[in-house]
Amino acid sequence: MIDQVPGYRGRFAPSPTGPLHFGSLIAAVGSYLQALHHQGDWLVRMEDVDTTRSVDDADDAILFALEDYGFEWQGQVMRQSERGAIYESVLAQLKELQQVYPCSCSRKQIQARIEDQGLKPGIYPGTCRHKPSTQGGQQAWRLRVGEESIGFDDPLQGHFEQKLTESVGDFVLRRADGLYAYQLAVVVDDAEQGITEVVRGCDLLDNTPRQIYLQALLGYPRPNYVHLPIAVNAEGQKLSKQTRAAPLDRKRPGPVLWRALDFLGQQPPTDLESAPPRELWAWAGENWSLAKVPPAPTITISPS
Ligand code: GLU
Repeated sequence: MIDQVPGYRGRFAPSPTGPLHFGSLIAAVGSYLQALHHQGDWLVRMEDVDTTRSVDDADDAILFALEDYGFEWQGQVMRQSERGAIYESVLAQLKELQQVYPCSCSRKQIQARIEDQGLKPGIYPGTCRHKPSTQGGQQAWRLRVGEESIGFDDPLQGHFEQKLTESVGDFVLRRADGLYAYQLAVVVDDAEQGITEVVRGCDLLDNTPRQIYLQALLGYPRPNYVHLPIAVNAEGQKLSKQTRAAPLDRKRPGPVLWRALDFLGQQPPTDLESAPPRELWAWAGENWSLAKVPPAPTITISPS
């Protein structure tokens, strides 16, 4: 049954680091079906803010694959690589609020300080937090994080909470090479696109408190967050370009979509196993149930 939610807006936000594979398809299918089921909009955003990781033609390959799989999105595809001026103005706003500071630490210096002082690995030790800001040189910009716990309720993963000071420390919003960080771009873009619910893979669960913190500072509304189980191989590794996940078969989308629905616990009827995407979407839009998605961070899949 359709469960209309007025004003629902979801999105799929791939990074063009390679073609879509079964793992990335899961986030596309889950977010699409939440939107279809709520009779909302579904937008596509190319997260190509880190141009050093973008692979030539990957964004076209992703969009063509989405078309072959029968996804329909509203409006133009937003591209982060074209939005530097907007990110700059948001950073300027944070500078005015004195929430960010320049940091000239190299990775090596950060590591050395952590080791010398026996600090928790992976957390910025705050070296530049209290230094007077100087101009020039290659500097990153970091966001001052607060002591409070930031939590949210995920319908699949339950309550998740983090103290940013203990889990990441002051994090980078603009890198020393001038590129804006994913955390800044995603928060600005979700707000600008009016996204009411973010549905994505569980690998990003521990990024969400940073995004909620930044939203609150900027006075943006907080979307709902749903983190889907991610597909892992027999060794427990996330399917990705690094683990050589096969690109989606664009010639036979139906059976792959059927498998994605099965992965998401939807029990698609076996007589739709070879159906074209149109029929699968018609069935899935009607029958999608978030409650049926396994509430697990990962699901192991066998190679097909
Ligand atoms: N661009 C990210 C990725 O491909 C997804 C970010 C998000 O959904 O917030 O992993």
